[in-house]
Amino acid sequence: LVDIRNVHKSFGPHEVLKSINLTINPGEVVAILGPSGSGKSTLLRTINHLEKLDGGTIRVDDELMGYKVRGHRLHELREHEVLRQRTHVGMVFQNFNLFPHLSALDNIIEAPIHAQGRNRAEVTEKALELLRRVGLAEKADAYPRQLSGGQQQRVAIARALALNPKVVLFDEPTSALDPELVGEVLDVIRGLAKDGTTLVIVTHEMGFARDVADRVVFMDDGHVIEQGTPAEIFGSPQHRRTKEFLSKVI
Ligand code: ATP
Ligand code: MG
Repeated sequence: LVDIRNVHKSFGPHEVLKSINLTINPGEVVAILGPSGSGKSTLLRTINHLEKLDGGTIRVDDELMGYKVRGHRLHELREHEVLRQRTHVGMVFQNFNLFPHLSALDNIIEAPIHAQGRNRAEVTEKALELLRRVGLAEKADAYPRQLSGGQQQRVAIARALALNPKVVLFDEPTSALDPELVGEVLDVIRGLAKDGTTLVIVTHEMGFARDVADRVVFMDDGHVIEQGTPAEIFGSPQHRRTKEFLSKVI
């Protein structure tokens, strides 16, 4: 479903992604682990073309992200085409990134109406159903500042799902939360995993990754060092750097 091939990305002289190859299959839940600065967030951001690539290609459902092929060369897509492509890829950030001046409901319906041109009544109905699904049916009219961090993050998840994305990317969705609020967000993500939604989750919650992921990918210094089932990666990591990392975090 997501096919990442030979992707390179630099910021100035600093090469942050060094030939990343990774495939995400439909319905799969993939956890990405790795030390700070290893390129995890940058990799997620390249998937929906929030970062341009310096080399390689990313396809989502066979569609080349951010570029089109003309002749034998890649040309950048125009802004509105990139925006349309991004609606296929839901993204949930560490800091929720809700619009502060919009209610929970309006946060959710904004993009489906404006980026996808869908009908307001249909989108509103779907949004209310999503709010129920994340346990916030009664908070439709609340503004972000009136919600706890855990509630805001659950609204952000509902907002990502409202676009009917093919895959949802999470970048450390619980690391800005007070410990007692982590569980409610992880439970929502666990529910999505069970329903067969394709998920890519950058996380430092090792127990959660072990429970929920079908596959664990370990990154270090811009490379995918090692990947496997949770049992393989947590039980018998092969690479020295994976072992070192896990011995520090578990
Ligand atoms: P963390 O676990 O701390 O979130 P990460 O694995 O997500 O780390 P990235 O945020 O992808 O790491 O950053 C990888 C490297 O790229 C870091 O050295 C970071 O400083 C650098 N970097 C990221 N974004 C930019 C940017 N916009 N401009 C310059 N350097 C950047
Ligand atoms: Mg990061």
